[in-house]
Amino acid sequence: MQPRPNNGLQPVFCTIVPPHVLDKLSQADDPLLADPARRTLEADGARRHHRRVTALAWTPQAARTSAAVPSKPHRTLYDCRHGTDLPGVKVRDEGDDPTRDASVNRAYAGLGATFDLLLTEYGRSSIDGKGLPLVGSVHYDEKYNNAFFDGEQMVFGDGDGEIFLDFTIAIDVIAHELAHGLTQYTANLAYEGQSGALNESVSDVFGSLVKQYSLGQSADQGDWLIGAGLLAPRVSGVALRSMKAPGTAYDDDVLGKDPQPASMDDYVDTDEDNGGVHINSGIPNRAFYLLATAFGGNAWERAGRIWFDVLTGGELAQDASFTDFARLTVKAAQQRFGEGDEAEAVLKAWSEVGVPTR
Ligand SMILES: [Zn+2]
Repeated sequence: MQPRPNNGLQPVFCTIVPPHVLDKLSQADDPLLADPARRTLEADGARRHHRRVTALAWTPQAARTSAAVPSKPHRTLYDCRHGTDLPGVKVRDEGDDPTRDASVNRAYAGLGATFDLLLTEYGRSSIDGKGLPLVGSVHYDEKYNNAFFDGEQMVFGDGDGEIFLDFTIAIDVIAHELAHGLTQYTANLAYEGQSGALNESVSDVFGSLVKQYSLGQSADQGDWLIGAGLLAPRVSGVALRSMKAPGTAYDDDVLGKDPQPASMDDYVDTDEDNGGVHINSGIPNRAFYLLATAFGGNAWERAGRIWFDVLTGGELAQDASFTDFARLTVKAAQQRFGEGDEAEAVLKAWSEVGVPTR
């Protein structure tokens, strides 16, 4: 175990579009494509550095001492009006009527769906378990090709319109980012190498679960894509990632090809992207997809419950490997469902992606 700075709270700075994608895009010949990507990369790089410097001073829990745990979300939406000052101008508070801005309303709904899934299915009030208010800012910067959770709030760009569209379009992206907060308040997985890929994968899992939950889809009906609808029509691709078939989300002249491996055979050793946290996450992502579809029915019920139990159970080490995580999912399945089909299905899912459990 690594030491836990800041009483176990260590915000990660995850942008939904990882740096390696923007890096490729910034090398495009067409300045209309390259310039927004370069600007987004520079802004993200500065923010990533800023977060490292300020992480130790980040203590939002200290501000909340009330014993009552809210059973309703408290959402506040802001409009950056294409500037970079956060949070921006307040445009919708909890309980307010919808605004005329679809981005605001989509972000409001996405924050609410994430709160609902956590509370209704897993009995957790918001990402911290104490009803943490959910804050989002839309229309961040000009042609900003990303969305992120900075440890305190969600931020959404409008995209450049050429490669990426408005980042509030994908509800799973909203839930993905909030799930980084959930991880931060629970297992606090270190954001590098395999534990970092697990951190990313957990966010994709809960991102996809929130999407399926909000649409009332069973595991068989879900698209198991992350960021479907975010890519502009000119891009050859369907999403940023595919949990069902990692490595197939896009294959485009400008964006390059989806680099995610689908099993340990193709594990990518790299120094980029914190050791490939957005790349090797394809492996645990596919294990979850295989398990959820093997179970059938609603993915958030059994498969999602097992993952939630591991994340919040207190046994997952900050520097956990894929095998550590896999073993705990087997144990969680046994504890919750007994020594039966569920635990066997978990073993099979990990085996299919080449992660040893015994
Ligand atoms: Zn992420």
